[in-house]
Amino acid sequence: MKYKADSAERAQNVGAVIVCAGKGERTGLAYNKILHKVGQKTVIENVLDTFFCICDSVNLTQITLVVSQNDIDAVSDIISTYADNRISITPGGATRGESVYNGLKACPCDVVIIHDGARPYVTPEILKRSVSSAIEHGSGIAAVHSVDTVKRVQNGKLFSLPRTELFNAQTPQTFNYARILDAYGRVEYGACTDDAEVYEKAGYSPVLIDGDYSNTKITTAHDLFPYVPKNCKIGIGYDVHRLVSGRNLILGGVKIDYPLGLLGHSDADVLIHAIMDALLSAAGLPDIGVLFPDTDDRYLGASSIDLLKNVIDKIYEMGFAVGNISAVIIAQRPKLATVIPQMRRTVADIISTDISRINISATTTEGLGIVGSGDAIAANACCLLTEHTNER
Ligand code: MG
Repeated sequence: MKYKADSAERAQNVGAVIVCAGKGERTGLAYNKILHKVGQKTVIENVLDTFFCICDSVNLTQITLVVSQNDIDAVSDIISTYADNRISITPGGATRGESVYNGLKACPCDVVIIHDGARPYVTPEILKRSVSSAIEHGSGIAAVHSVDTVKRVQNGKLFSLPRTELFNAQTPQTFNYARILDAYGRVEYGACTDDAEVYEKAGYSPVLIDGDYSNTKITTAHDLFPYVPKNCKIGIGYDVHRLVSGRNLILGGVKIDYPLGLLGHSDADVLIHAIMDALLSAAGLPDIGVLFPDTDDRYLGASSIDLLKNVIDKIYEMGFAVGNISAVIIAQRPKLATVIPQMRRTVADIISTDISRINISATTTEGLGIVGSGDAIAANACCLLTEHTNER
């Protein structure tokens, strides 16, 4: 789905402050980690490329890079390759807080995205979610549920904290510009470890949005190569089911208003069947016909979404995570464009991954064959599996 900002969002002038002034001592590099190459490009170019993806959809009009004196020449060289007058450089301060404050003062706007220059895996979807939240609620702080159990030690005594209430804050952290500027002007920010804390100490209430476990900050040498995919496997899946009356039409876990439904032993969700077969194929496992045979009454009328959960558990146990899934539904009727976003969200939620990793499209066969006559719907899917770390 193409993100479409509503008119209220378009009226907002969005700026970005990207903080690059760290020394990166913990990476052990002789240079700032934002100048390290991840793939073909430096960390900061990967970040800038993602910000440029959202320029039109959120009216991003200026990007201020906060850079330490030592790196100004190197970063100037990089941004000259973009030849884009939206990017400017502002000198950093002695602390992260000072650098952010410098950046804010140099980037007047209505809504400001604050992002760490050392988070190159941020996605356009996360940036857009944080901007939407800031427009609606005043702020949008990217965060993920804490995966590890967190302990607090106080006076030598160990306390366990309830994990379900704990989140790891990331960036982007996006704010109403006037409020965050006011907060930095009033709060002793030296001890604050992120911008949400400054905002909170000024009496405002930060709002969390979904970040992504892969949106990590490069901190140590280990982080420099974390998501170079190891042991990648691709898979392909295909399925077709006949359309009949008297059945619900379920596609991608979404019930679709249509007089006909797909015939099958389970709910006959042809898209989820193709996705499951792609995942199983990549993992080198038998296909769904073997795993969930139509001679087994346990799967009579089964929700394919539940079967997908089962498949995801299997591949996760084998040490794989889903890199991305790309699928196409082939149907003459009904038109599916308006329900595809819901299908993507449903599948992403089952896999516990960002919606940007699940893409679904739809096409017709121009009236040809059993699909073209409206008697059947087919689906193709392919996927990439990568070795997982501990993320899901
Ligand atoms: Mg099937």
